[in-house]
Amino acid sequence: MAKIQMNTPLVEMDGDEMTRVIWQMIKDKLLTPYIELNTEYYDLGLVHRNETNDQVTVDSANATKKYGVAVKCATITPNAQRMTEYDLKEMWKSPNGTIRAILDGTVFRAPIIVKGITPLLPGWKKPITIARHAYGDVYKNTEMKVKDGCKAELVVTDKDGNETRQLIHEFKGSDGVIQGQHNIDASIASFARACFNFALDTKQDIWFATKDTISKKYDHTFKDIFAEIYENEYKAKFEAAGIEYFYTLIDDAVARVVRSEGGYIWACKNYDGDVMSDMVATAFGSLGMMTSVLVSPDGVYEYEAAHGTVTRHYYKHLKGEETSTNSVATIFAWSGALKKRGELDNNAELVVFADKLEKATIKTIEDGVMTGDLYIISQLENKKKVNTEQFLDEINLRLKEML
Ligand code: NAP
Ligand code: MG
Repeated sequence: MAKIQMNTPLVEMDGDEMTRVIWQMIKDKLLTPYIELNTEYYDLGLVHRNETNDQVTVDSANATKKYGVAVKCATITPNAQRMTEYDLKEMWKSPNGTIRAILDGTVFRAPIIVKGITPLLPGWKKPITIARHAYGDVYKNTEMKVKDGCKAELVVTDKDGNETRQLIHEFKGSDGVIQGQHNIDASIASFARACFNFALDTKQDIWFATKDTISKKYDHTFKDIFAEIYENEYKAKFEAAGIEYFYTLIDDAVARVVRSEGGYIWACKNYDGDVMSDMVATAFGSLGMMTSVLVSPDGVYEYEAAHGTVTRHYYKHLKGEETSTNSVATIFAWSGALKKRGELDNNAELVVFADKLEKATIKTIEDGVMTGDLYIISQLENKKKVNTEQFLDEINLRLKEML
């Protein structure tokens, strides 16, 4: 069989530790035998980020803007311990944060569902994709502890120096705390467009919720911006695609999500997304089965696994011990990126290959062949635990049959 050609490059962002090991194995076993892989390679491993003073991260994000699609391996976000482990010049910032800031994107996290692994909420039959607004609110707040007897006010000064004041609270009889939060209309609008675009792209309904009944200005602004953009730019497209935009209160949304069977995107404000994405991920089973894609408002896509570099497994691997690390989310990052590249380039062969790679991966697990993390939760009768490399070989056996 002739190898599948790629006209436009894919931006490839390599990473760290166990996921870097898996990255190379996926390429060697599942991709390069079948595809003339055309990637623009950026090494985001911590060693190279340190060598380039983190310039490589910025370069890779700019390349993603240029080519439109990237696939990223998990990377270490340095902390004090990594400073000594890697002899770093600086405590470099989170690559994901840097890339997200350059692309102005929204992250969509979705679980991969397989037979034999039932979500902790057994009613969930289809994935629930969480979209988290990644700007402002409590994550960029200003807080103060306030002494008894103080008066706290919100003060806004306009360009000409005029002040508008509103009382927050007069503290009488007790000390207390106050907090100032903000958000920006432009960021909320970007978030709304990314969500509506992704809903159209994946043909799923989108839900959004805030607490607008209590927060009549702050949360209501989110509701209004979403509604306005939907009415003016997306309503007709949604109707044509047969999908829905559904707005409700956050507490009602939580109740409905629990009762639902999944199969939609849940757009969340920053804090709701932080909390709910961990709840949804845990309920669906394993971190090794969560994918993640960053979508910019102008339609640039960056695919990755939602988990980290699986450090504990990597240290075992370095000692020569056997590992059983789940590569599914990283494989789906590749298949997602290849599929998107194929769609943008009208490369049907590439799209079909990416689909088959996903099917072969799911079939492997449904045939009872899986890594340790899934082995302990799978309800299949004849299940078998395999090591990191064997799992990829088993996928390849099935992929070959499908091609
Ligand atoms: P992690 O790498 O996600 O791993 C946490 C634990 O979850 C693992 O020890 C393992 O549990 C389990 N796990 C996660 N992915 C798995 C997989 N594919 N297969 C099997 N088990 C899996 O999180 P972490 O240990 O908190 O972080 C490690 C490093 O990753 C840190 O340096 C962090 O900065 C980085 N990180 C990067 C990203 C990213 O690039 N997107 C995201 C998060 C964290 P057991 O040990 O019990 O088997
Ligand atoms: Mg969280």
